[in-house]
Amino acid sequence: MEVINDNNCSWIKDLSFRNDIKKLSSNLDCEWLIVGAGYTGLSAARKLGQIYPNQKIILVDAQLAGEGASSRNSGYLVDTTLNDGFSSNKELENYKKKSDIYKLGIESVKRFIKEYQVDCDWNECGKYFASSKIEDKKILENFSKTLSKLGFKHEMLSNIDLKKKLGTNFYNIGLYTQGGILLHPGKLVRAMIATLPKNIKLYENSTLIKWRKLNSKIYCNFKNGSIKTKKIIFATNGFLKSLGIKSNYNFPLTLTASMTRPLKDHEFKLIGKPKEWGVLPVRPMGATIRMTKDRRFLIRNTAEIYNPYKMSQVELKKRSIKQIIGIKKRFPKLSDNIIESTWSGVVSRTRNSSQIFEKLDDNIFVAGCYNGSGIGVGTLFGEQIAIKASNETSKEIDIIESRKRPTWLPPNPFLNLGVKSRLIYERIRARSEI
Ligand SMILES: Cc1cc2nc3c(=O)[nH]c(=O)nc-3n(C[C@H](O)[C@H](O)[C@H](O)COP(=O)(O)OP(=O)(O)OC[C@H]3O[C@@H](n4cnc5c(N)ncnc54)[C@H](O)[C@@H]3O)c2cc1C
Repeated sequence: MEVINDNNCSWIKDLSFRNDIKKLSSNLDCEWLIVGAGYTGLSAARKLGQIYPNQKIILVDAQLAGEGASSRNSGYLVDTTLNDGFSSNKELENYKKKSDIYKLGIESVKRFIKEYQVDCDWNECGKYFASSKIEDKKILENFSKTLSKLGFKHEMLSNIDLKKKLGTNFYNIGLYTQGGILLHPGKLVRAMIATLPKNIKLYENSTLIKWRKLNSKIYCNFKNGSIKTKKIIFATNGFLKSLGIKSNYNFPLTLTASMTRPLKDHEFKLIGKPKEWGVLPVRPMGATIRMTKDRRFLIRNTAEIYNPYKMSQVELKKRSIKQIIGIKKRFPKLSDNIIESTWSGVVSRTRNSSQIFEKLDDNIFVAGCYNGSGIGVGTLFGEQIAIKASNETSKEIDIIESRKRPTWLPPNPFLNLGVKSRLIYERIRARSEI
Protein backbone atom coordinates (compact mmCIF):
# COMPACT_ATOMS: atom_id res chain seq x y z
CA MET A 1 0.00 0.00 0.00
CA GLU A 2 1.20 3.51 -0.75
CA VAL A 3 0.80 6.48 1.54
CA ILE A 4 -1.47 9.00 -0.18
CA ASN A 5 -1.55 12.17 1.84
CA ASP A 6 -3.85 15.11 1.38
CA ASN A 7 -2.04 18.20 0.11
CA ASN A 8 -3.77 20.42 2.62
CA CYS A 9 -1.37 20.92 5.50
CA SER A 10 -0.80 24.63 6.16
CA TRP A 11 2.67 24.05 7.62
CA ILE A 12 3.76 22.40 4.36
CA LYS A 13 2.07 25.09 2.27
CA ASP A 14 4.18 27.69 4.11
CA LEU A 15 7.34 26.12 2.65
CA SER A 16 8.90 26.61 -0.75
CA PHE A 17 8.47 23.96 -3.42
CA ARG A 18 11.30 21.39 -3.65
CA ASN A 19 12.55 20.41 -7.10
CA ASP A 20 15.38 18.04 -6.18
CA ILE A 21 13.22 14.93 -5.75
CA LYS A 22 14.61 11.54 -6.78
CA LYS A 23 12.57 8.35 -6.96
CA LEU A 24 14.12 4.89 -6.67
CA SER A 25 14.10 3.29 -10.12
CA SER A 26 16.99 0.79 -10.12
CA ASN A 27 18.63 -1.93 -8.02
CA LEU A 28 21.12 -0.57 -5.51
CA ASP A 29 23.59 -1.81 -2.91
CA CYS A 30 24.56 0.09 0.23
CA GLU A 31 26.11 -0.19 3.68
CA TRP A 32 23.18 1.47 5.41
CA LEU A 33 19.49 1.84 4.57
CA ILE A 34 17.19 4.07 6.61
CA VAL A 35 13.48 3.66 5.95
CA GLY A 36 11.33 6.71 6.73
CA ALA A 37 12.46 10.34 6.40
CA GLY A 38 10.71 12.13 9.26
CA TYR A 39 12.55 13.56 12.29
CA THR A 40 13.74 10.06 13.25
CA GLY A 41 15.04 8.90 9.86
CA LEU A 42 16.55 12.27 8.97
CA SER A 43 18.34 12.51 12.31
CA ALA A 44 19.63 8.95 11.97
CA ALA A 45 20.87 9.77 8.47
CA ARG A 46 22.56 12.97 9.63
CA LYS A 47 24.37 11.13 12.41
CA LEU A 48 25.42 8.18 10.24
CA GLY A 49 26.63 10.59 7.56
CA GLN A 50 28.85 12.24 10.17
CA ILE A 51 30.17 8.95 11.57
CA TYR A 52 30.77 7.32 8.17
CA PRO A 53 31.49 10.07 5.61
CA ASN A 54 32.82 7.51 3.15
CA GLN A 55 30.10 4.89 3.33
CA LYS A 56 27.11 4.58 1.07
CA ILE A 57 23.99 5.51 3.04
CA ILE A 58 20.50 5.53 1.53
CA LEU A 59 17.40 7.14 3.02
CA VAL A 60 14.00 6.30 1.51
CA ASP A 61 10.50 7.59 2.08
CA ALA A 62 7.14 6.48 0.76
CA GLN A 63 6.10 10.12 0.27
CA LEU A 64 8.01 13.40 0.14
CA ALA A 65 10.60 13.50 2.91
CA GLY A 66 9.32 15.09 6.09
CA GLU A 67 5.77 15.42 4.80
CA GLY A 68 4.30 12.74 7.06
CA ALA A 69 3.55 13.45 10.71
CA SER A 70 6.81 15.39 11.05
CA SER A 71 5.30 18.31 9.11
CA ARG A 72 1.72 17.69 10.17
CA ASN A 73 1.96 18.03 13.92
CA SER A 74 1.02 20.82 16.30
CA GLY A 75 4.58 21.99 16.90
CA TYR A 76 4.85 21.55 20.69
CA LEU A 77 8.36 20.57 21.70
CA VAL A 78 7.48 19.31 25.14
CA ASP A 79 9.43 18.97 28.37
CA THR A 80 6.47 17.49 30.26
CA THR A 81 3.19 15.84 29.32
CA LEU A 82 0.09 15.38 31.38
CA ASN A 83 -1.70 12.70 29.49
CA ASP A 84 0.01 11.21 26.51
CA GLY A 85 -2.71 8.66 25.99
CA PHE A 86 -3.16 5.71 28.21
CA SER A 87 -0.70 6.39 30.98
CA SER A 88 -1.10 8.04 34.29
CA ASN A 89 1.58 10.05 35.98
CA LYS A 90 1.25 8.15 39.23
CA GLU A 91 4.70 6.65 39.28
CA LEU A 92 7.16 9.42 39.93
CA GLU A 93 10.22 7.38 38.98
CA ASN A 94 8.85 6.52 35.56
CA TYR A 95 7.63 10.05 35.01
CA LYS A 96 11.13 11.31 35.75
CA LYS A 97 12.62 8.91 33.20
CA LYS A 98 10.11 10.09 30.63
CA SER A 99 10.89 13.75 31.28
CA ASP A 100 14.65 13.05 31.22
CA ILE A 101 14.13 11.72 27.69
CA TYR A 102 12.08 14.81 26.75
CA LYS A 103 14.91 16.99 28.09
CA LEU A 104 17.47 15.19 25.94
CA GLY A 105 15.09 15.55 22.98
CA ILE A 106 14.89 19.32 23.46
CA GLU A 107 18.68 19.47 23.70
CA SER A 108 19.03 17.51 20.43
CA VAL A 109 16.72 19.86 18.54
CA LYS A 110 18.42 22.89 20.10
CA ARG A 111 21.85 21.61 19.06
CA PHE A 112 20.62 20.98 15.53
CA ILE A 113 19.08 24.42 15.06
CA LYS A 114 22.12 26.12 16.57
CA GLU A 115 24.63 24.21 14.47
CA TYR A 116 22.76 24.81 11.20
CA GLN A 117 21.32 28.24 12.08
CA VAL A 118 17.77 27.04 11.50
CA ASP A 119 14.83 29.41 11.61
CA CYS A 120 11.80 27.36 12.71
CA ASP A 121 9.86 30.04 14.60
CA TRP A 122 11.36 28.76 17.85
CA ASN A 123 9.57 30.28 20.84
CA GLU A 124 10.44 29.31 24.41
CA CYS A 125 7.04 30.51 25.60
CA GLY A 126 6.07 27.47 27.70
CA LYS A 127 2.66 25.87 27.40
CA TYR A 128 -0.68 25.63 29.16
CA PHE A 129 -2.72 22.64 30.27
CA ALA A 130 -6.25 23.94 30.56
CA SER A 131 -9.83 22.83 31.03
CA SER A 132 -13.27 24.40 31.09
CA LYS A 133 -14.25 22.00 33.88
CA ILE A 134 -13.51 23.33 37.34
CA GLU A 135 -13.52 19.74 38.65
CA ASP A 136 -10.32 19.15 36.65
CA LYS A 137 -8.56 21.27 39.28
CA LYS A 138 -7.85 18.04 41.17
CA ILE A 139 -5.99 16.55 38.18
CA LEU A 140 -3.96 19.71 37.76
CA GLU A 141 -3.15 19.91 41.46
CA ASN A 142 -1.82 16.35 41.36
CA PHE A 143 0.15 17.19 38.25
CA SER A 144 1.50 20.28 39.98
CA LYS A 145 2.77 18.09 42.85
CA THR A 146 4.61 15.85 40.38
CA LEU A 147 6.13 18.87 38.63
CA SER A 148 7.21 20.41 41.97
CA LYS A 149 8.90 17.18 43.07
CA LEU A 150 10.87 17.15 39.83
CA GLY A 151 11.68 20.86 39.88
CA PHE A 152 9.67 22.00 36.84
CA LYS A 153 8.69 25.66 37.07
CA HIS A 154 4.95 26.06 36.72
CA GLU A 155 1.93 27.90 38.08
CA MET A 156 -1.79 27.28 38.48
CA LEU A 157 -4.02 29.74 36.65
CA SER A 158 -7.60 30.88 37.08
CA ASN A 159 -10.19 31.78 34.46
CA ILE A 160 -9.18 35.46 34.69
CA ASP A 161 -5.46 34.70 34.22
CA LEU A 162 -6.22 32.43 31.29
CA LYS A 163 -8.48 34.98 29.65
CA LYS A 164 -5.66 37.54 29.79
CA LYS A 165 -3.05 35.16 28.37
CA LEU A 166 -5.16 33.39 25.74
CA GLY A 167 -7.91 35.81 24.82
CA THR A 168 -10.71 33.33 25.57
CA ASN A 169 -13.11 32.93 28.45
CA PHE A 170 -13.54 29.23 27.74
CA TYR A 171 -11.05 27.80 30.23
CA ASN A 172 -11.78 27.83 33.95
CA ILE A 173 -8.67 26.21 35.31
CA GLY A 174 -5.16 25.87 33.96
CA LEU A 175 -1.54 25.11 34.69
CA TYR A 176 1.29 26.90 32.92
CA THR A 177 4.68 25.20 32.54
CA GLN A 178 7.62 27.35 31.65
CA GLY A 179 9.65 24.74 29.84
CA GLY A 180 7.85 23.96 26.56
CA ILE A 181 8.76 25.37 23.17
CA LEU A 182 6.49 26.17 20.24
CA LEU A 183 7.87 25.89 16.73
CA HIS A 184 7.00 25.50 13.05
CA PRO A 185 7.30 21.72 12.50
CA GLY A 186 7.51 22.01 8.71
CA LYS A 187 10.40 24.48 8.83
CA LEU A 188 12.27 22.25 11.27
CA VAL A 189 11.98 19.07 9.21
CA ARG A 190 12.70 20.92 5.95
CA ALA A 191 15.98 22.14 7.50
CA MET A 192 16.84 18.52 8.36
CA ILE A 193 16.42 17.63 4.68
CA ALA A 194 18.40 20.63 3.46
CA THR A 195 21.36 19.85 5.72
CA LEU A 196 21.69 16.11 5.05
CA PRO A 197 25.36 15.17 4.69
CA LYS A 198 26.62 14.78 1.11
CA ASN A 199 26.99 11.00 1.27
CA ILE A 200 23.28 10.43 2.00
CA LYS A 201 21.27 9.49 -1.09
CA LEU A 202 17.61 10.35 -0.57
CA TYR A 203 14.89 8.59 -2.58
CA GLU A 204 11.32 9.82 -2.18
CA ASN A 205 7.91 8.57 -3.27
CA SER A 206 9.55 5.15 -2.91
CA THR A 207 7.63 2.76 -0.67
CA LEU A 208 9.34 -0.23 0.90
CA ILE A 209 6.98 -3.06 0.12
CA LYS A 210 8.77 -6.15 1.41
CA TRP A 211 12.02 -6.92 3.20
CA ARG A 212 13.83 -10.03 4.35
CA LYS A 213 17.17 -10.95 5.85
CA LEU A 214 19.19 -13.61 4.11
CA ASN A 215 22.58 -14.58 5.53
CA SER A 216 24.28 -11.30 6.31
CA LYS A 217 22.35 -9.08 3.86
CA ILE A 218 18.93 -7.42 3.99
CA TYR A 219 16.94 -7.41 0.76
CA CYS A 220 14.36 -4.68 0.29
CA ASN A 221 11.79 -4.52 -2.50
CA PHE A 222 10.24 -1.32 -3.79
CA LYS A 223 7.77 -0.82 -6.62
CA ASN A 224 10.42 0.20 -9.17
CA GLY A 225 13.63 -1.14 -7.74
CA SER A 226 15.39 -2.88 -4.88
CA ILE A 227 18.06 -2.18 -2.31
CA LYS A 228 20.49 -4.68 -0.82
CA THR A 229 21.96 -3.41 2.42
CA LYS A 230 24.28 -4.52 5.22
CA LYS A 231 22.43 -2.63 7.94
CA ILE A 232 18.95 -1.19 8.17
CA ILE A 233 17.19 1.28 10.46
CA PHE A 234 13.40 1.39 10.46
CA ALA A 235 12.07 4.88 11.18
CA THR A 236 8.54 4.60 9.80
CA ASN A 237 6.76 5.33 13.10
CA GLY A 238 3.00 4.91 12.46
CA PHE A 239 3.82 2.44 9.71
CA LEU A 240 6.06 0.10 11.70
CA LYS A 241 3.26 -2.37 12.21
CA SER A 242 2.50 -2.52 8.47
CA LEU A 243 6.13 -3.57 7.88
CA GLY A 244 5.76 -6.31 10.47
CA ILE A 245 7.95 -4.54 13.02
CA LYS A 246 7.18 -4.89 16.72
CA SER A 247 3.61 -5.63 15.64
CA ASN A 248 2.47 -6.63 19.09
CA TYR A 249 3.86 -3.51 20.70
CA ASN A 250 2.56 -0.59 18.62
CA PHE A 251 -0.42 0.53 16.63
CA PRO A 252 -1.19 3.55 14.43
CA LEU A 253 -3.65 6.29 15.30
CA THR A 254 -4.82 8.88 12.80
CA LEU A 255 -5.16 12.47 13.98
CA THR A 256 -6.60 15.43 12.13
CA ALA A 257 -5.89 19.11 12.57
CA SER A 258 -7.09 22.38 11.09
CA MET A 259 -5.44 25.76 10.69
CA THR A 260 -7.28 29.08 10.30
CA ARG A 261 -6.25 32.05 8.21
CA PRO A 262 -4.38 34.74 10.18
CA LEU A 263 -6.65 36.86 12.35
CA LYS A 264 -7.41 40.29 10.93
CA ASP A 265 -6.36 43.29 13.00
CA HIS A 266 -9.84 43.89 14.40
CA GLU A 267 -10.24 40.18 15.32
CA PHE A 268 -6.88 40.17 17.05
CA LYS A 269 -7.81 43.32 18.95
CA LEU A 270 -11.12 41.75 19.94
CA ILE A 271 -9.33 38.91 21.76
CA GLY A 272 -6.93 41.29 23.51
CA LYS A 273 -3.84 40.89 21.24
CA PRO A 274 -2.34 37.91 23.12
CA LYS A 275 1.20 36.71 22.49
CA GLU A 276 1.74 33.32 20.78
CA TRP A 277 0.46 30.49 23.01
CA GLY A 278 -0.23 26.74 23.06
CA VAL A 279 -2.81 24.85 25.15
CA LEU A 280 -2.86 21.11 25.75
CA PRO A 281 -5.99 19.40 27.10
CA VAL A 282 -6.33 18.09 30.64
CA ARG A 283 -8.54 15.21 29.47
CA PRO A 284 -6.85 12.97 26.89
CA MET A 285 -9.31 13.47 24.04
CA GLY A 286 -9.74 17.22 24.48
CA ALA A 287 -8.46 19.74 21.94
CA THR A 288 -4.89 20.86 21.48
CA ILE A 289 -5.11 24.45 20.34
CA ARG A 290 -2.45 27.07 19.70
CA MET A 291 -2.16 30.55 18.33
CA THR A 292 0.85 30.94 16.07
CA LYS A 293 3.10 33.95 15.98
CA ASP A 294 1.39 35.06 12.75
CA ARG A 295 -2.00 34.90 14.54
CA ARG A 296 -3.39 31.68 13.08
CA PHE A 297 -5.19 29.13 15.23
CA LEU A 298 -4.31 25.47 14.94
CA ILE A 299 -6.69 22.95 16.46
CA ARG A 300 -6.41 19.18 16.79
CA ASN A 301 -9.35 17.46 18.42
CA THR A 302 -9.63 14.01 16.83
CA ALA A 303 -7.70 10.76 17.29
CA GLU A 304 -9.00 7.52 15.84
CA ILE A 305 -8.28 4.11 14.44
CA TYR A 306 -8.43 4.75 10.71
CA ASN A 307 -6.73 3.53 7.54
CA PRO A 308 -3.30 5.18 8.01
CA TYR A 309 -2.62 5.32 4.27
CA LYS A 310 -5.32 7.74 3.24
CA MET A 311 -8.17 9.93 4.45
CA SER A 312 -10.54 11.31 1.79
CA GLN A 313 -11.46 14.98 1.43
CA VAL A 314 -15.03 14.10 2.44
CA GLU A 315 -13.82 12.55 5.70
CA LEU A 316 -11.51 15.50 6.33
CA LYS A 317 -14.42 17.88 5.85
CA LYS A 318 -16.35 16.04 8.58
CA ARG A 319 -13.44 16.49 10.99
CA SER A 320 -13.05 20.13 10.01
CA ILE A 321 -16.66 20.73 11.15
CA LYS A 322 -15.68 19.43 14.59
CA GLN A 323 -12.71 21.74 14.51
CA ILE A 324 -14.63 24.88 13.67
CA ILE A 325 -16.97 23.99 16.54
CA GLY A 326 -13.90 23.76 18.81
CA ILE A 327 -12.64 27.15 17.66
CA LYS A 328 -16.03 28.83 17.98
CA LYS A 329 -16.48 27.46 21.50
CA ARG A 330 -13.37 29.38 22.46
CA PHE A 331 -13.73 32.36 20.13
CA PRO A 332 -17.45 32.74 19.36
CA LYS A 333 -17.02 36.02 17.48
CA LEU A 334 -14.80 34.58 14.76
CA SER A 335 -16.45 33.79 11.44
CA ASP A 336 -17.64 30.28 10.54
CA ASN A 337 -15.39 30.00 7.50
CA ILE A 338 -12.10 30.93 9.15
CA ILE A 339 -10.50 27.47 8.69
CA GLU A 340 -8.10 27.47 5.77
CA SER A 341 -7.00 23.83 5.76
CA THR A 342 -7.61 20.47 7.42
CA TRP A 343 -5.23 17.54 7.21
CA SER A 344 -4.57 14.15 8.73
CA GLY A 345 -1.40 12.60 10.12
CA VAL A 346 -0.47 9.26 11.61
CA VAL A 347 1.19 8.67 14.97
CA SER A 348 2.28 5.50 16.63
CA ARG A 349 1.16 4.43 20.08
CA THR A 350 2.17 1.85 22.59
CA ARG A 351 0.08 0.55 25.45
CA ASN A 352 2.06 2.17 28.25
CA SER A 353 3.21 5.29 26.34
CA SER A 354 6.80 4.10 26.20
CA GLN A 355 8.87 4.41 23.04
CA ILE A 356 10.51 1.78 20.84
CA PHE A 357 14.32 1.92 20.55
CA GLU A 358 16.09 -1.33 19.88
CA LYS A 359 18.14 -3.80 17.93
CA LEU A 360 15.72 -6.30 16.39
CA ASP A 361 18.33 -8.66 15.01
CA ASP A 362 21.95 -8.44 13.88
CA ASN A 363 22.17 -5.26 11.75
CA ILE A 364 18.46 -4.45 12.07
CA PHE A 365 17.40 -1.50 14.23
CA VAL A 366 14.24 0.43 14.97
CA ALA A 367 13.28 3.69 16.67
CA GLY A 368 9.80 5.16 16.94
CA CYS A 369 6.46 5.33 18.74
CA TYR A 370 6.55 8.61 20.53
CA ASN A 371 2.90 8.58 21.50
CA GLY A 372 2.25 12.02 20.08
CA SER A 373 5.43 13.68 21.41
CA GLY A 374 7.98 12.98 18.68
CA ILE A 375 9.54 16.31 17.73
CA GLY A 376 12.26 16.17 20.33
CA VAL A 377 12.25 12.46 21.11
CA GLY A 378 12.22 11.53 17.39
CA THR A 379 15.24 13.76 16.77
CA LEU A 380 17.02 12.26 19.79
CA PHE A 381 16.10 8.64 19.01
CA GLY A 382 17.14 9.04 15.36
CA GLU A 383 20.61 10.24 16.35
CA GLN A 384 21.00 7.67 19.11
CA ILE A 385 19.80 4.66 17.12
CA ALA A 386 22.47 5.54 14.54
CA ILE A 387 25.06 5.50 17.35
CA LYS A 388 23.74 2.22 18.72
CA ALA A 389 23.74 0.65 15.24
CA SER A 390 27.38 1.73 14.92
CA ASN A 391 28.17 -0.30 18.05
CA GLU A 392 28.98 2.86 19.97
CA THR A 393 27.63 3.92 23.34
CA SER A 394 26.50 7.25 24.77
CA LYS A 395 25.08 8.63 28.00
CA GLU A 396 21.87 9.31 26.07
CA ILE A 397 21.53 5.62 25.14
CA ASP A 398 21.95 4.67 28.80
CA ILE A 399 19.11 7.01 29.75
CA ILE A 400 16.89 5.85 26.89
CA GLU A 401 17.47 2.21 27.74
CA SER A 402 16.63 2.68 31.39
CA ARG A 403 13.03 3.62 30.48
CA LYS A 404 10.09 1.29 30.96
CA ARG A 405 9.71 -0.86 27.81
CA PRO A 406 6.52 -0.96 25.73
CA THR A 407 4.18 -3.69 26.90
CA TRP A 408 2.52 -6.40 24.84
CA LEU A 409 -0.68 -5.71 22.92
CA PRO A 410 -3.25 -8.33 21.94
CA PRO A 411 -3.68 -9.10 18.24
CA ASN A 412 -6.59 -7.83 16.13
CA PRO A 413 -9.58 -7.80 16.29
CA PHE A 414 -9.15 -7.60 20.09
CA LEU A 415 -6.69 -4.70 19.87
CA ASN A 416 -8.90 -2.54 17.65
CA LEU A 417 -11.94 -3.30 19.78
CA GLY A 418 -10.08 -2.39 22.96
CA VAL A 419 -8.60 0.83 21.54
CA LYS A 420 -11.89 1.90 19.96
CA SER A 421 -13.83 1.46 23.18
CA ARG A 422 -11.16 3.31 25.14
CA LEU A 423 -11.25 6.18 22.66
CA ILE A 424 -15.06 6.35 22.85
CA TYR A 425 -14.86 6.45 26.64
CA GLU A 426 -12.20 9.20 26.59
CA ARG A 427 -14.17 11.13 23.94
CA ILE A 428 -17.28 11.10 26.14
CA ARG A 429 -15.25 12.23 29.15
CA ALA A 430 -13.75 15.07 27.14
CA ARG A 431 -16.83 16.12 25.16
CA SER A 432 -16.90 19.60 26.70
CA GLU A 433 -13.23 20.08 25.83
CA ILE A 434 -13.38 19.35 22.08
C1 LIG B 1 -1.87 16.11 14.04
C2 LIG B 1 -0.62 15.74 14.81
C3 LIG B 1 -0.22 16.53 15.89
C4 LIG B 1 0.96 16.20 16.58
N1 LIG B 1 1.43 17.08 17.51
C5 LIG B 1 2.65 16.90 18.05
C6 LIG B 1 3.23 17.91 18.88
O1 LIG B 1 2.67 18.98 19.09
N2 LIG B 1 4.45 17.65 19.43
C7 LIG B 1 5.13 16.49 19.18
O2 LIG B 1 6.25 16.32 19.71
N3 LIG B 1 4.63 15.55 18.36
C8 LIG B 1 3.41 15.72 17.78
N4 LIG B 1 2.91 14.79 16.93
C9 LIG B 1 3.66 13.54 16.70
C10 LIG B 1 4.88 13.76 15.82
O3 LIG B 1 4.51 14.39 14.61
C11 LIG B 1 5.52 12.40 15.52
O4 LIG B 1 5.82 11.77 16.74
C12 LIG B 1 6.80 12.55 14.73
O5 LIG B 1 6.54 13.15 13.49
C13 LIG B 1 7.46 11.19 14.51
O6 LIG B 1 8.53 11.34 13.63
P1 LIG B 1 9.04 10.12 12.80
O7 LIG B 1 10.13 10.57 11.93
O8 LIG B 1 9.34 8.99 13.71
O9 LIG B 1 7.78 9.64 11.95
P2 LIG B 1 7.06 10.30 10.70
O10 LIG B 1 7.18 11.75 10.66
O11 LIG B 1 5.70 9.70 10.68
O12 LIG B 1 7.91 9.72 9.49
C14 LIG B 1 7.83 8.39 9.10
C15 LIG B 1 8.03 8.35 7.61
O13 LIG B 1 8.06 6.98 7.19
C16 LIG B 1 7.54 6.92 5.90
N5 LIG B 1 7.13 5.57 5.59
C17 LIG B 1 6.12 4.85 6.11
N6 LIG B 1 6.04 3.63 5.57
C18 LIG B 1 7.05 3.56 4.66
C19 LIG B 1 7.47 2.55 3.77
N7 LIG B 1 6.87 1.35 3.70
N8 LIG B 1 8.53 2.82 2.95
C20 LIG B 1 9.17 4.02 3.01
N9 LIG B 1 8.79 5.00 3.86
C21 LIG B 1 7.75 4.78 4.67
C22 LIG B 1 6.38 7.91 5.93
O14 LIG B 1 6.05 8.33 4.63
C23 LIG B 1 6.90 9.02 6.83
O15 LIG B 1 7.40 10.12 6.12
C24 LIG B 1 1.71 15.05 16.23
C25 LIG B 1 1.30 14.27 15.16
C26 LIG B 1 0.15 14.60 14.45
C27 LIG B 1 -0.25 13.74 13.27
